[in-house]
Amino acid sequence: MSDHEAIDVHCHFFPIRIFKKLSKKYNKFNLDIKSEGDLVNIRINIGNIRYSGTVKGGFLDFDKLIKDSLTKHKIIRIISIAPISFFYELDIEIADELYREFNNLASELSEKYKDIVSFMAGIPLQDPSKAIEELKRAIIDLGLKGVAIGTNVVGKNLDHPTLRKFFIEANRLNVPIFLHPAYVAAKSRLKRYYLTNIIGNPLDTTIAVGSLIFSGLLDQLSNLKFVLAHGGGFFPYQLGRFEHGYHVREETKFKAKQSPKYYLRHFYFDTILHDKEALNFLIRQVGPEKIIMGSDYPFDMGYDNPVDVIESLELAGNIKNMILIENAIKLFKLE
Ligand SMILES: [Zn+2]
Repeated sequence: MSDHEAIDVHCHFFPIRIFKKLSKKYNKFNLDIKSEGDLVNIRINIGNIRYSGTVKGGFLDFDKLIKDSLTKHKIIRIISIAPISFFYELDIEIADELYREFNNLASELSEKYKDIVSFMAGIPLQDPSKAIEELKRAIIDLGLKGVAIGTNVVGKNLDHPTLRKFFIEANRLNVPIFLHPAYVAAKSRLKRYYLTNIIGNPLDTTIAVGSLIFSGLLDQLSNLKFVLAHGGGFFPYQLGRFEHGYHVREETKFKAKQSPKYYLRHFYFDTILHDKEALNFLIRQVGPEKIIMGSDYPFDMGYDNPVDVIESLELAGNIKNMILIENAIKLFKLE
């Protein structure tokens, strides 16, 4: 993999073939998709999730995704399913079928485009027993490199007791977990101006981190490693507040043995911040060994050229290389 310039840990693919098949069978969602040149206009309605926008053609067409990955820089993509299609609020039968098909396809594409793409598994987390079964199949049998889950499960925070057995299994398998915001908090107050994404996404990541740290889960499951989307949401900027809260409030000490900074060892952060100074701050706050390049390809809230973002920073060459490639290789065991 040394001839590649970067690894992208935050990018998505929408398995349209699987969705078309499922929509005929279950009639639970509507897809309105029109290609226009290299772009695709989409309106998607799955359960209570609605998304409309213009995305890059690679969202649907894997050959376009590959082409876009090799055009300006050589980028290895570690792909996850788009969170608009997490399916956590649908019946377990539908979600289970979606994820089994998605993980099978992920395995095929990883084989076909070896050295260019890897995949993170998807799992039906609304049923933790089924989710564990599919996680084991995807990681052990299919060889996928990580697992992508939501920052909550339709309103259940990640410290919910029913989810603990999933984390125990992920800890046992030592598989990196990509936390992507979905079903975000305060939706009713964020519905205008695209605030569900602009504020809701980083907010929900912050809630997920707080739930994981203060629940004491990380004291018991020491292998767990999480990649946080969008630079870790508001967490890195509010780390001092987490820390202060731990020292002055009993509620925070109830289960967590250490103060929040100690648990930074469990978290990695992508680079999608759209602000050079914020990214410099993040690198100083959590350390360059915890930063991994992300693009949010093919969405409009992502970077067109994620490598240029890192290259434009005033950092020593070895630090850039860590962020562009080395940290991801170590975390996802890509060698
Ligand atoms: Zn994303």
